[in-house]
Amino acid sequence: MGRLQEKVAVITGGAGGIGKVTAKRFLDEGASVVLVDLFEDALAEAKKELGESVLTVQADVSKEEDVQKYVDETVEKFGKIDIFFNNAGIEGKVTPITEQKVEDFDKVIAVNVRGVFLGLQKVLPVMIKQKSGSIINTSSVAGLGGSPNVSPYITSKHAVVGLTKAAAVENAPHGIRVNSIHPSPVNTRMMRSLETGLEVDEATMAKSIPLGRYGESDDIASLVVFLASDESTFITGSQYRIDGGMAAL
Ligand code: NAD
Repeated sequence: MGRLQEKVAVITGGAGGIGKVTAKRFLDEGASVVLVDLFEDALAEAKKELGESVLTVQADVSKEEDVQKYVDETVEKFGKIDIFFNNAGIEGKVTPITEQKVEDFDKVIAVNVRGVFLGLQKVLPVMIKQKSGSIINTSSVAGLGGSPNVSPYITSKHAVVGLTKAAAVENAPHGIRVNSIHPSPVNTRMMRSLETGLEVDEATMAKSIPLGRYGESDDIASLVVFLASDESTFITGSQYRIDGGMAAL
């Protein structure tokens, strides 16, 4: 028996680095998986890799009607949502606050904050009816501290902490758990893009990580599987750092 046997899991940003690897781990643990992403071709690629059983839904998490669409399609096909990995995100422009454009700031907030909020708003009624569910919101170490030149991202990831705490306290009486995860740099497209913007390379960044390397998506997926499973039934409203020891410095 897998640790997620019989469970239905929705993953936003499901065609991306962390999302797709976590989908694979969810499937291996016996869950049914729904992948939500902005890009149709990336979803098709993911389905080819993960298998025909995976439901894919093209949706923009920042748009209310799209969020309703992925929730409705999931319930129509699988009848419930046990696990919601609220994970889609963008990095925004890398430049000081004085040079950030308001429209670029708004775009990051729309995806990383409104997207997470809308996901909670539309998934929670399904879970409330079931009287159960586990939600994992993807924040970042950037949601727990500052870092130069990525102010929209930092702001958005701190907001995810607020949403996590609010949703956890509000929905504990319904038997629903809500936690956030806070990875340090992970080996994905997003980190490659940030490296370019910050003009750093992996070897330099890795010097500030005691374990001496970036996280891999599989490292993150291990934590997500734990928080999604019934092994974590007394954990809610918590912020989980997964950072190769950075916080200990
Ligand atoms: P990624 O770019 O590989 O994946 C992000 C996915 O989100 C992509 O598939 C993208 O198409 C999708 N997406 C973007 N905007 C969307 C929208 N409006 N609607 C639907 N889907 C959308 O990056 P990743 O590293 O896998 O990032 C996943 C999450 O992890 C993000 O929230 C990110 O902020 C967070 N995170 C990443 C790192 C890192 O170093 N890679 C560190 C900490 C936290």
